Amino acid sequence: MNAVVKPAVSDRTHAFLQQPHKLFINNQWVESRAGQTIEVLNPATGKALGRIAAGDASDIDLAVKAARAAFDSGPWPSMPPIERAKLLWKLADLIEAAADQIGETLSLDNGMPFGMGKFGGALGSAQSMRYAAGWAGKIDGRVPVLSAPDKFAYTLREPIGVVGCITPWNFPFAMEADKVSQVVASGCTMVLKPAELTPFGALLLGKLVQEAGFPPGVINIVTGYGNTAGKALVEHPDVNKISFTGSTATGQWIVQACAPTLKRVALELGGKSPTFVFPDADLSQAIPGAAMAVFVNSGQICVAGSRLYIHKKVFDQVIEGISGLARNLKVGPGLEPGSQMGPLVSQGQLDRVSGYIESGITEGAEVVVGGKRQGSEGYFLQPTVLAQTHRSMKVVRAEIFGPVICAMPFGDEDLDAIAKVANDTTYGLSSYIWSRDVGTVHKLAKRIHAGTVQVNGGAGLDPALPFGGYKQSGWGREKGREGIEALMEIKTVAMSL
Ligand code: NAD
Repeated sequence: MNAVVKPAVSDRTHAFLQQPHKLFINNQWVESRAGQTIEVLNPATGKALGRIAAGDASDIDLAVKAARAAFDSGPWPSMPPIERAKLLWKLADLIEAAADQIGETLSLDNGMPFGMGKFGGALGSAQSMRYAAGWAGKIDGRVPVLSAPDKFAYTLREPIGVVGCITPWNFPFAMEADKVSQVVASGCTMVLKPAELTPFGALLLGKLVQEAGFPPGVINIVTGYGNTAGKALVEHPDVNKISFTGSTATGQWIVQACAPTLKRVALELGGKSPTFVFPDADLSQAIPGAAMAVFVNSGQICVAGSRLYIHKKVFDQVIEGISGLARNLKVGPGLEPGSQMGPLVSQGQLDRVSGYIESGITEGAEVVVGGKRQGSEGYFLQPTVLAQTHRSMKVVRAEIFGPVICAMPFGDEDLDAIAKVANDTTYGLSSYIWSRDVGTVHKLAKRIHAGTVQVNGGAGLDPALPFGGYKQSGWGREKGREGIEALMEIKTVAMSL
């Protein structure tokens, strides 16, 4: 957890937030057609931060037309892959140069600590962009051996077309930059609809895209509400694929809405990931690792290890360690020096998470630490550890998306039984194992139904690693080779010789 010292907001960021914000279509900043706006709040104060344009179906249509033209007839389709890669490198350099401003902006609209926005958001995105740029020139097909004599065939991978990208509020900028990286590397074009609660990172990204010199229409950004702008993007007949990151409920709606056009759909959805701490684990690593797998970004992370299973031999020690860490975590505004955990994103989210804690207490959970709102200004919640929790409780079953750990003991049951516990959820996004026993680690990793298994701290969300969910955590994979290939169609060319 970065606790980087950062003074109050710079004049540059202040001026950026205060300016009238427009939509980024065809490389130009344009007014929304209806002229409606949305007020964006600072979650650390509950006060207004700025206003953004509320794009609607007519703005989305304009943006899709721009993306369509760029894909079908602009310079994009014939641009050599190495030129696309160069644009991504240019954009990555610009992101790096703007890292402080991006960090400040994310602290203000999302609430995250400055260091997290700067390093995880800006600099991490620049690295992902350079990684994806490498794929632009490495896309290939196959020459399969055929069964019939005197026949020959090959396959081509071709960009899918216009991609509608929709992102959530929990990690702005990084979410949007990841989608941009993969769309550009694959040769597609895009319309991005960022979350209405945290739109400023995407708008900064638009400025940098314009500065990097992308051809008009390749990357378009329309801010607005989900049920207007987002819905119009999902339903637009000229969009070839929807790449959605957000809640499972919205993902389910998107699947139905895409049925009439049979658009391709990629879904990165919610999770309720298990963490297992075995008695042979290095507890000096496992305790902070298990704690921060939930408390980072105030628990507003899709991969939160929010079901914590601790072997009974080390249960008390681990709970004591995590609770001590929770008590000492510096909770405060993202731009306050030393702040390690910011507010939740909105009053609605604070109410939702507090409601889950209440329901846990009503169902018999014990609050070991935290459980309460912190202060009266902004949407801060204490890092919380609940014990005496059980699989049937709502707090153990639902994705809370807040800084709440549900701790439960396990014993010497075999790995099949332990895996059954891990898989006792409708989700399957991530999982965490803390153990020094290689056999335990590999056998359990194989049995867990989740897109990612992080062992002894894992490797974070490296851009080389495919990321996505089993079960109701989503469809498809982003990042890695798989993320690029998911944005391509396969064409078979077969001939008789
Ligand atoms: P959400 O589904 O409410 O909103 C996500 C985005 O979808 C926003 O931009 C919103 O405006 C838009 N949207 C809402 N309704 C829409 C509709 N009918 N049509 C089109 N777009 C619509 O999710 P959220 O509350 O912003 O984000 C939190 C959720 O995101 C959590 O469940 C979390 O687990 C998930 N998430 C998943 C990943 C992942 O990679 N798996 C990453 C981050 C967050």
